[in-house]
Amino acid sequence: MIIAMKPGVSREEIKKFAAELEKQGVKIDFSHGASQTVLGLVGDTSAINDEALRVNRLVEKVIRVQEPYKKANRLFHPADTVLDLPTTGKRAMIGGGAFGVIAGPCSVESREQIVLVASAVKKAGAAFLRGGAFKPRTSPYSFQGMGCAGLDLLVEAKKETGLPIVTELMEISQLELFEDVDVIQVGARNMQNFNLLKELGHSRKPVLLKRGLASTMTELLMAAEYVMAGGNDRIVLCERGIRSFDSFTRNTLDLAIIPALKKKTHLPVIVDPSHATGIAAMVPAMSKAAIAAGADGIIVEVHNDPEHALCDGEQSLTPDSFSELMNTLRKYAAIEGKTI
Ligand code: PEP
Ligand code: MN
Repeated sequence: MIIAMKPGVSREEIKKFAAELEKQGVKIDFSHGASQTVLGLVGDTSAINDEALRVNRLVEKVIRVQEPYKKANRLFHPADTVLDLPTTGKRAMIGGGAFGVIAGPCSVESREQIVLVASAVKKAGAAFLRGGAFKPRTSPYSFQGMGCAGLDLLVEAKKETGLPIVTELMEISQLELFEDVDVIQVGARNMQNFNLLKELGHSRKPVLLKRGLASTMTELLMAAEYVMAGGNDRIVLCERGIRSFDSFTRNTLDLAIIPALKKKTHLPVIVDPSHATGIAAMVPAMSKAAIAAGADGIIVEVHNDPEHALCDGEQSLTPDSFSELMNTLRKYAAIEGKTI
């Protein structure tokens, strides 16, 4: 962080001001010009309140050089973080050379549906099963998910297939129900639910953090920082499309955020081509693009009967089309030196 002091501020005042800053654990380099002094703060400045500095009567300008996130920052943690869950079968990995595929229906609808889809996606090579039990729906009149019964069915599907399960948590009070859940999804609408993020920081469960509908990359990283600040560093970031002016797709897939995130953070990054496009026919192309962009995996909606799905049928692949996609993706992943 660089702080330019106002012209004419005395050395004495600057010394006092700097001493206060040093109490916050930073070292200060002084550069005294003819009329103005510039301070260079060295060390961890993430906890320094730059807004307060900006209104300080002695300060002319504050420039943040370092990002406001520390634990999520690749600068302080150069090696890739990899999600690697113990399973009885195929390794469930995201990152570290593994292109992790999470697949399953938008929502759990019945025992038959979830077990059938789980078996199909497992056979096709998915490493994780997805399925919503608590659903964040735009309309209160839409299917809201099966709730606890849906969680029980996910656990049954996990027992049948061995696939770890990924499902969305909508509020803190549900956390105690998530004992058997392997990865907790924080949906786009909850990305900045800071109380929820703090609570997940104290959990030992991995978190799949989806980008908010209109959130910047820094906001996504700060959301991850909230979870990490509490001590939980098992986080997977997910680009799931953002709002733009155009409506030919449900959202606009911001693929450029993948290389940008990979540079800024050590956390694994995946793409959700289903919610990003809202159109099943576009999912294969966007999945291939995700691999080319450097993603560590994808989360894809698959339904045994998309036409009659209770949620997001339009963007759901059938088990057959998912299997075909997986065969293609294996080749694309190999080009990038990754395995599925
Ligand atoms: C979902 O994964 O089903 C979902 C609701 O996703 P998002 O939060 O990205 O809209
Ligand atoms: Mn969905």
